Amino acid sequence: MKVAIIGTGYVGLPTGVGLAELGHDVVCIDKDESKIKTLQSGRVTLYEDGLAEMLQKNFQAGKIKFTTSMKDSIPSADVVLLAVGTPPHPVTKEADLQYIFAAAEELALYLKDYTVVAVKSTVPVGTGDKVEALIRKVNPQADADIISVPEFLREGYAVKDFFNPDRIVIGSNSEKAKKVMANLYNYFADKTEILYVNRRSSETIKYASNAFLAVKIHYINEMANFCEQTGADIAEVAKGMGLDKRIGNRFLNAGPGYGGSCFPKDTMAMAYIARQYGVNMSLIEDVIKENAARKKQMAHRVLDAVKNIPNAKIAVWGLAFKEGTDDCRESPAMEIIAELIKNKANIVAYDPQAMTNAQKLVGNQIKYAQDMLTAAQNADVLAILTEWPEFKNADLDKLAQTMAHKNIVDCRNMLNKTEATAKGFSYSCIGYNSEIARSFQNKVA
Ligand code: NAD
Repeated sequence: MKVAIIGTGYVGLPTGVGLAELGHDVVCIDKDESKIKTLQSGRVTLYEDGLAEMLQKNFQAGKIKFTTSMKDSIPSADVVLLAVGTPPHPVTKEADLQYIFAAAEELALYLKDYTVVAVKSTVPVGTGDKVEALIRKVNPQADADIISVPEFLREGYAVKDFFNPDRIVIGSNSEKAKKVMANLYNYFADKTEILYVNRRSSETIKYASNAFLAVKIHYINEMANFCEQTGADIAEVAKGMGLDKRIGNRFLNAGPGYGGSCFPKDTMAMAYIARQYGVNMSLIEDVIKENAARKKQMAHRVLDAVKNIPNAKIAVWGLAFKEGTDDCRESPAMEIIAELIKNKANIVAYDPQAMTNAQKLVGNQIKYAQDMLTAAQNADVLAILTEWPEFKNADLDKLAQTMAHKNIVDCRNMLNKTEATAKGFSYSCIGYNSEIARSFQNKVA
């Protein structure tokens, strides 16, 4: 099938490459000329495991093309996927739909034969109605169905998730559109559940899912706070909880709070929509507030660890909002760093993929090191802020030798606390306080 994808970001590009790999003829459109120039030379514009190789292969085979022009690519498309950004409005925090509407208005001009226009971006309930009205206004003759196909891929696993989705949701009442989408996703027919629902349900499934996951993360973080005061260990508690199939063991890693380009904006958008409809969503409202406060609390844990050391040097491992990506948007690490900078901290950071993007956000307010140990050289405390696997395998002997003071604040519970303590580190992690745990044991004894 012929597919046009508008927006070549973290969703559009892996989706385009994945669909090309499945044999479709894909054109990726973006108004960012520099992105398109890079892509037209066969190179990727963002980091995702396996993406560069798959892009190269399909690019050379002529299965995927890149352009800034809708005029040349929309008329022949069977399906147009809209994958532009829906960032939070700076004031109201509702989803800002200006990119969706601008793209819809433009693509409407070039619709020719029957086309399915599928909104892949995360949009508030009812957006499909507005996009449809806009397209019909610009091009009353257009033979098109406007449907919702929300995206659930995880950054860092985009390629893997494209080929192994938990489900595909298609929001449309049009039998014709459903047939076209069944063809597009034919490869998945016997591999995953393809759920057909109405457009408004589809739009809601995306926000409801992300808000639920954000609440789950916040729940385990609150439990971690509880464990720190009671001598329990959140790792053991989470394991015990996760064995209950009704709860499940995923998203039970306590940490510095959720972040990234989706959960913060999608929870805020969900809360906004609920307010518009007069529905009480105090749970989500509360989670948003507490999650934001948590990043500041983490920064102060790091500062507390060096409060008696003048001009302390803080080493930071991890800048991306999670492992496997170079994306720093709403990264907890970046928010913790912002609070540290506010407190005039002297920071040297390392991240395997995200240093270029981090530099765009904080510039030279921090220093950057080319590897973990260099970042930790003469440091008074090490803060681990992203769960890159290489941090788990850090050589603690070398780390001990290179640091000025052996303090670690591990916001991702990456290291083995028994080993770190045995090597002489003052080791603080999330959801377990060794002194409190010992004090309760002593009381019993
Ligand atoms: P992004 O910012 O990485 O990419 C958006 C791209 O759209 C940019 O390259 C931009 O230049 C382009 N664009 C904007 N307006 C355009 C126009 N009129 N014509 C052509 N190109 C245009 O965004 P993203 O992270 O890929 O997210 C896209 C959508 O998918 C959002 O709604 C997001 O919430 C949703 N989503 C994201 C993820 C994720 O992991 N990032 C996961 C699921 C859903």
